[in-house]
Formats: sequence, C-alpha cells, structure tokens
Amino acid sequence: MSYQYSYDVIVVGAGHAGCEAALACARLGVRTALLTMNCDTVAQMSCNPAIGGVAKGQMVREIDALGGEMAKVIDQTGIQFRLLNRRKGPAMHSPRAQADKKLYQFDMKGRVEGQENLTLRQEVVEGLWVEEDQIKGIHVKGAASYRASAVILTTGTFMQAVMHTGESKSQGGRAGEGATQGISESLVSHGVKLERFKTGTPPRVNGRTVDFSVLEEQPGDAQPQAFSFQTTVIEQEQIPCFITHTNESVHDIIQANLDRAPMYSGQIDSTGPRYCPSIEDKVVRFSDRTSHQIFLEPEGRNTREVYCNGISTSLPRDVQESIIHLIPGLERSEIMRFGYAVEYDYADPTQLWHTLESKCVEGLYLAGQINGTTGYEEAAGQGLLAGINATMKIQQRPSFVLDRSQAYLGVMIDDLVTRGVDEPYRMFTSRAEYRLLLRQDNADRRLMPLGYRIGLVNQEAWDGLQKKEQQIETLTTQLRSIRVGSDSAEKILRRPETTWESLMERIPELRGSICSSEVMRQVEIETKYSGYVQRQSLEIERHQRLESKKIPEFFDFQAVPQLRVEAREKFLKVHPTSLGQASRISGITPADLAVLMVYLDGRAVIPMESEM
Ligand code: FAD
Repeated sequence: MSYQYSYDVIVVGAGHAGCEAALACARLGVRTALLTMNCDTVAQMSCNPAIGGVAKGQMVREIDALGGEMAKVIDQTGIQFRLLNRRKGPAMHSPRAQADKKLYQFDMKGRVEGQENLTLRQEVVEGLWVEEDQIKGIHVKGAASYRASAVILTTGTFMQAVMHTGESKSQGGRAGEGATQGISESLVSHGVKLERFKTGTPPRVNGRTVDFSVLEEQPGDAQPQAFSFQTTVIEQEQIPCFITHTNESVHDIIQANLDRAPMYSGQIDSTGPRYCPSIEDKVVRFSDRTSHQIFLEPEGRNTREVYCNGISTSLPRDVQESIIHLIPGLERSEIMRFGYAVEYDYADPTQLWHTLESKCVEGLYLAGQINGTTGYEEAAGQGLLAGINATMKIQQRPSFVLDRSQAYLGVMIDDLVTRGVDEPYRMFTSRAEYRLLLRQDNADRRLMPLGYRIGLVNQEAWDGLQKKEQQIETLTTQLRSIRVGSDSAEKILRRPETTWESLMERIPELRGSICSSEVMRQVEIETKYSGYVQRQSLEIERHQRLESKKIPEFFDFQAVPQLRVEAREKFLKVHPTSLGQASRISGITPADLAVLMVYLDGRAVIPMESEM
C-alpha cells in the first residue's frame, strides 16, 4: 500500500535552485514540500565555496531585489567580500564573497525550516506521477507518493550521474553521495529530451600543511559591500585568500599522463564548461603558457580545509598528488579530497516556456543545473522564477517573465529557452545587450517594485526603496537647479574627473543636502552615464516593439507555407511566444521574421496575458 501526501507544490532537491523555489512558493501562500535526498546537504556548495563574481554577483543582487534569499545568506556567512572590476565602469562592478561553506548551508537550512507553509523532508524521489500530460505528483522510495498541482525539479548534477577520477568510475552526483535513477526515465517517457554534460572540481588540501608564508596574500575589501539591499553593514572579520601558480614541471606531468585523464582517454565524451576548464584542458589548450594562477580559498572559519581554485581535474590520484607537491606553498600539503569530474543528464531547456514550465508536461517546472546551466547563482535565479511561476499558475495570476532589458535573470531564461545549450551555461556580462542598465547597484530600483507587487518583497524593504527613490529625486533636482557660471552642478558632475568631493568644494551648499553614500553613488552613476543610458533606452524601445508582438501559444507554424523549411523547424522546436523571441533563434533571418510578421498581422494576433 502506497502512503500518499498532498501539497500544492513539490520541490525536488534542496540545492540552490530548490531552496529559492520552495521559499518563494511558501511565502506566496501555497503549501509546499521540499524533498531532498539528504537533509544534511541542503544548499551545499558542490564546488567552490564562493557566491557571486562577474555577472553572477549582479544576479544575486537581482534575486535579492525580487525577494529571494541567497544574498542574505551570504551576507551572514561570508568570510571575505570583494567588489570585482572596481577599476572598470559601474556596469562591470561585480560583488563576490567567499563563504563559510558549512555555515552557509546551516543558515539556508534554518531559513527553510523556519518558513511557514514549507515542509522540508528527506526523501529519494524515484519518478514523476503524470496523467494525460499533466503533473499529478511524484513517487518516492519506500512506497509513498506526493500529490501536487505543480512539481519543480531541481536535481542538479544527480540524474544518472557518474563520477570520474582517473580510470576509477563510480555512480554519484557529488563525492560521497548517490545518483538519481528513476527521474530520467520518467522525463524521457513524457517526451523530455535529455543530454549529458560534465563538470569538474579541484582537490582540497589541509591548510595545516600549506606554507602560506611563501604565498601572495589576497585580502578582502577594507569596506565590504553587502549583497542584500537590506543588509546595512558587514561586520564579521574577513579571512584572506592566497595566490600560487602552476609551473612547467606541473605541466610536464600532466602532459605525460593525459592518456589517463578521462577527458582524453575517451572515458568521458560529454561536454564540459569551456570557460571553466580543468587543469589538463588548460595545459593542452594553452600549451604556450608556462604557468596558471591558483587561488587558495579557505572553506570556512572552523575548518582548515582549503579549496584549490584553478586546478579542477579528473586525473588519477597519484598524478594529483605529484602535481600538488610541485606547486609553491603546497610542497608538503596533504590532499583532503581528490578532484573529480561528474557526468550527468540535463534536459533540453528549449522544451520549456519562459516560465520554466515544461512544454511536455503541464505543471512540471525545471530549474537549475538540470536545465544545462552551471553555477549556484544561475540555479538560484531559476529556482526563484520557477517557484514564482508555479505559484502564479496555481493562484490563477499572470505569469512572471522578466524581459532581457529588465534583468540578467531575464537574459538567462530567454537564452536557455530560445537558444538552448551546447555547453554548460553560465552568465557573462557580454550575454546582456543592455548591461549598462543591468547594473548591480540598481537591481533594487529595477526589480523590487515587481517583487513587491507579487508579494515576495516585505514592507520594510519596500519602504526603504521608496525613501531612496525620493532622496535620489531630490538630489538630482537640486543638482539641476544649482548653477556655477553657465553650467549646472549636474553638468559639472557629468565630467569624468569630477568627484563628489571636488563638486562639494566648488559648491559648499551641497554639503548640507548630502544623503547616504548609496544615494550619492546612484545619482553620480546616472548622471555620468546618462548619455549611454539614454541610447540604450532607445534600443530597448525598439526591442520592446518586437517583444510586444505576441505569438499565441497554439499558433500553427505549419500553416505558414511561405516559411523556409529550416525556419519552420526551428519555430516548431522552440515555439517562440513573441516576434522578439523568434528573432533571437539562431539561424532565423530577417526575411523569416518578415514572413511571420505579415502572417501574424493578417491573422489578428491574440495578445497574451500581460506579463508583469
Ligand atoms: P544542486 O546544488 O546539485 O542540488 C541538487 C539537489 O537535489 C541536492 O540537494 C540533491 O540531494 C537533490 N536531489 C537530487 N536527486 C534527488 C532525488 N532523486 N530525490 C531527492 N533529492 C534529490 N559550478 C560552477 O559554477 N563552477 C564550477 O566549477 C562547478 N563545478 C562543479 C563540480 C562538481 C563536481 C559539481 C557536482 C558541481 C559543480 N558546479 C560548478 C555546479 C554547481 O554545484 C551547481 O551549478 C549548483 O549546485 C546547481 O544547483 P542546483 O540547485 O541546480 O543543484
């Protein structure tokens, strides 16, 4: 006899996507169960103990502005904070922090446990329960089922996962853990296309055995910037990282053992992240380089374990030992965990709507690494949006889709569902056409109104934003009204060499009106970059004209005879929901769009429910 539970939403997997998804659902008022293989690995960082970085930091700020959790957790548990790319323009400024890995997990777990409407439970999910292409729930190990109106799958690297260290292979999605078997079959049986990717991780060493005295120290920022718009100050003491390098002896050993590296021996044939290559990959691809940088990153305050960022590898143990001992500072170091690679199933994201709901099974949502992405931040962002959309559907509210001009999160989802992936997808600033507008400093101004409207952002955060907007407006008006000779104060601040300090020296009356440094920084950026920003705003208007031309969900592309065969096939595969999305499908030409546009215009396109 199978035992049965009933919830509104089931989230499978309590990784970075799963936690955000479950918290969003529960906070928006639906009864949610978060089922995960092991309650001790909630929000575990499988790879490096860090959150943020270039483009990823911007996404964490966006998650926060929408009412997500990641930023608050890293603010509490970070051990080193740095704003990357400080010397570049504000669009490139990217917050990054080292996390106390265990503390991060416990902090997130505590938030999940403390959330009303949310049940966290250890279960191994073995299959989907689907009737007539509609999700009904899931089946778990031990003869039990969970019934739900929506299921969000966030199983990360676990589906049919195989780990490799040299010639040795074992089943599992992460060192010390098992693999997930039944879900892949369930998905395939309902028409979901699965592919394989691989990713890798470096060895970790015992800090007691590292000679830090010969290494370059990398401290955190003197005045650390928080990730969350609601964190006022980061007070905890920071811990330094250290920098070392590989050398020619290391590279020689790697070259001599390539035939034992699963990627080169043919043992692994799936694709890994090109931009995050293993050390064996770097040595082969950049053979003219005699050295590669390694960051030694502490994994926490209460552990001596050190993560060797830059030498991800699946070479055999004996080769890893030899390599490590040739690296300055690590000559006597003990490996605590060996590096390995993992191959896993992911689902083709072009089979998802922008809401992350599956086109094959109604009520089934996929988020995180299962969609072919890599990275905690990418996973968390998808989890949040899948959670919001699953809830919106249950509550019969309009779907929540962010445009490419609104957020990196919008860029990511649109890239995934429109273009698909042929290697693990991670966010870069270059993926965003409107990156001058999608800055980390203004994520609250861009997205908090949306998060507040759907009910995820609390009153306190909203009041804070209102106050900030008011101060920005007052200061901007004042700058416009104060004149120095023939120039306004605003015009003077626009000059690249003008700082607030130099402006206040020229206009002492400004000192009296000065507000928080965040408001001043916002006014300065908006003023200095107003020309570029206006230009991007015009481009966005053009972009939105195409986006607003909606294509109905059941539009029959077969019925457009003038379309080229290739274009028709692509439209049938992706089923774009707007002309804008159709234009971004690779291989689609302006002529294909013109055909489609004429046809849509002639056929009185039904506008979709307005997206918020
Ligand atoms: P995960 O964090 O993997 O969480 C999945 C969750 O689902 C887990 O809690 C698991 O227990 C649970 N689960 C799975 N199957 C079931 C089931 N059947 N029943 C119940 N629960 C289940 N990212 C980078 O950005 N850079 C890197 O270099 C990098 N290297 C990596 C190396 C390795 C070896 C691994 C494993 C991951 C690496 N990652 C890297 C990826 C990063 O860990 C993921 O992108 C991120 O954790 C994905 O988050 P997620 O929520 O999608 O999945």
